[in-house]
Amino acid sequence: MRKNIVAGNWKMNKTLQEGLTLAIELNDALATEKLNCKVVIGTPFIHLASVTKAIDTKKIAVSAQNCSDKESGAFTGEISAAMVKSTGAEYVILGHSERREYYGETSEVLNRKVALALANGLTPIYCCGEALEVRNSNGQNDFVKNQLDETIFNLSVDDFKKLVIAYEPIWAIGTGVTASTEQAQEMLSFIRSIIANKFGNDVAENTSILYGGSCNAKNASELFAQPDIDGGLIGGASLKVADFKAIIDAF
Ligand code: PEP
Repeated sequence: MRKNIVAGNWKMNKTLQEGLTLAIELNDALATEKLNCKVVIGTPFIHLASVTKAIDTKKIAVSAQNCSDKESGAFTGEISAAMVKSTGAEYVILGHSERREYYGETSEVLNRKVALALANGLTPIYCCGEALEVRNSNGQNDFVKNQLDETIFNLSVDDFKKLVIAYEPIWAIGTGVTASTEQAQEMLSFIRSIIANKFGNDVAENTSILYGGSCNAKNASELFAQPDIDGGLIGGASLKVADFKAIIDAF
């Protein structure tokens, strides 16, 4: 059975102290709740170790937002998958469109990152999604299929089963423009169908696929009610406890 997941992506926000406060407030707000989804918070690297110690990680799992494509060594400023894992984090967001666009992450680099994350026992939340020009020319399915073909579709079936996919149309990220429920469902259903073609129905049915892009307390219930939408990757709305909790409660 695939999991429902609500994952926050804090991006480059919050000092260590502010981040700890946010994580502890969320932990307290969820303490007595029976949750119907897995909750994950994607913090900056420097928060990972402190946040995992400060919260109940059985209730809220912690994620990095990136990791290096190198195992270890002379790569100044990089953080390896093994280092991420050693903080107590369980997930890592990989292939976010901001990293592809601003840091030139190619499919080749992402292949190495996914492999290292998996080898170190992290669950990748693998992001894909098209730009507005692609959507406007109706090329979104081919574009997303190509992104998956070049990266996670190269994995063995056993490795593929360990990851989570997040579809995030670039035109909806941080813009306040959400994909319509139909657009999101249509794409997630398409992604599930190409997983089925590649790895079989059983794997497709058991893969958690999230929607991301201006998901908020108002639109979450309708999105999460769709048959192929297993949750959300949440940017802006994960920075306020009340907003993030309302999205979690949409399940
Ligand atoms: C994101 O960056 O992953 C994201 C979905 O951002 P937002 O929710 O702010 O659109």
